[in-house]
Amino acid sequence: MGNYRICNFCGNLYEVKIKSMCSSCEKMYIKIRSIVEEFPDTIVLEISNQTGISVSRILSFAENGYFRLKEGTIEIIK
Ligand SMILES: [Zn+2]
Repeated sequence: MGNYRICNFCGNLYEVKIKSMCSSCEKMYIKIRSIVEEFPDTIVLEISNQTGISVSRILSFAENGYFRLKEGTIEIIK
């Protein structure tokens, strides 16, 4: 039997391996992260527009320690 957890971001149940989120949220995280890596000055609202991921979801990644909020933009932590 695997070790299961509820995803912090969407509430899905997922099997814990390394990440602390389910695979659909991980895809969102990677999408956001790739924009931040390429264009660090992109504001959260613009990231939301480009990815279709809600601002509140992006902020919840920040609250969970994946990004640092900085004057309307985000920085990568992990
Ligand atoms: Zn999730």
